Amino acid sequence: MTINEAQQEIDVWIKKYGGGYFSELTNLGMLSEEVGEMAHWIIRKYGDQSLKPSEKEVNIDEAIVDEMTDTLWVLLCMANQMGIDLEKGLLNNFNKKTLRDAERHKKR
Ligand SMILES: [Mg+2]
Repeated sequence: MTINEAQQEIDVWIKKYGGGYFSELTNLGMLSEEVGEMAHWIIRKYGDQSLKPSEKEVNIDEAIVDEMTDTLWVLLCMANQMGIDLEKGLLNNFNKKTLRDAERHKKR
């Protein structure tokens, strides 16, 4: 699935099942919420925070995928409602970073 296809599929889903898009500002809040949920599990896998007793049965790898996908979902919703072509944006971003950083990280 390309990014353009993902944007189109989400648009169809939102109109069919989601009752329409939330406002841009609501989605901005939801994006922050999903990033926080993703951070919760990444911190527990890679950081110093340990699991709560109620989290012991959670598959952390699956939780990270789920929250990362929730984050992508909201971002794609925002792109749709703002008329942004994220595939074109990503290609432009690759070009920008390549021009700016082609030599920058080779010494790391
Ligand atoms: Mg979530």
